[in-house]
Amino acid sequence: MFRIGCHISASGGYLAMGKRIDALGGNTFAFFTRNPRGGAAKDIDQADVDAFRTFCREKDIDRIVAHAPYTLNPCAEKENVREFALTAFSDDLRRMEYTPGQYYNFHPGSHVGQGLEVGIAKIAEVLNQVLFPGMTTTVLLETMAGKGSEVGGRFEELRAVMDRVTLSDKLGVCLDTCHVWDAGYDIVNDLDGVLTAFDKAVGLDRLKAVHLNNTKNDLGAAKDRHEKLPDGKLPLEAIRRIVTHPALEKLPFILETPNDEAGYAAEIALVRQLHG
Ligand code: FE
Ligand code: FE
Ligand code: ZN
Repeated sequence: MFRIGCHISASGGYLAMGKRIDALGGNTFAFFTRNPRGGAAKDIDQADVDAFRTFCREKDIDRIVAHAPYTLNPCAEKENVREFALTAFSDDLRRMEYTPGQYYNFHPGSHVGQGLEVGIAKIAEVLNQVLFPGMTTTVLLETMAGKGSEVGGRFEELRAVMDRVTLSDKLGVCLDTCHVWDAGYDIVNDLDGVLTAFDKAVGLDRLKAVHLNNTKNDLGAAKDRHEKLPDGKLPLEAIRRIVTHPALEKLPFILETPNDEAGYAAEIALVRQLHG
């Protein structure tokens, strides 16, 4: 089954999200587990989750890729920021168990002057505190554009984090096409080479989801500015090669392009057409 969807609003709860993505023509989706700028999450309503899971079975929706808030920085220097990362991460993983076996994606974070090594160690430390035996969620580290002091612009950095985590079998990677391009990986002219590099550094079996975005920037710009699929630096032919590549085709593709709902519906249809 080909899975394509987009980032949607979490308002109204789980069943509302299921209906929202179905109306857009998608069969997978991402949402913020709480306000992206931080704060507490709403209580989960068991009846809503039950109705959502029934709806998903009817509609063949079997994969959700929850997104941690942007403010969650596991390698922050400030203690209160790191404290929020720990609390929110831990609470989100507990909540994810209402929808067993799904994905929770987070940005490894920015080390803000502490250096890459300290950043990597701190991210792993947070993971070692929040992962628990018996959890059914897979936690995905997102590939980053390498903007500022972001950790995760190189595949080897993700691997270095994973190597330090005891329950590393609970970890995977989400590849963001805008981010890897901005980080200098040429997915337009050498997709196979990039995937080989990923396989060497991390292992393709760890690749669990794709954020399918175009980008406003040139290769290696280290900027992270998403663009609509038909408009950015990645030609549609490159997008087509990505969604049909044998190593990627089975993964959920999530659009995070600057669109309203009508725009997302159109891009979901476009990707289905590209996939064939
Ligand atoms: Fe992200
Ligand atoms: Fe992303
Ligand atoms: Zn981004």
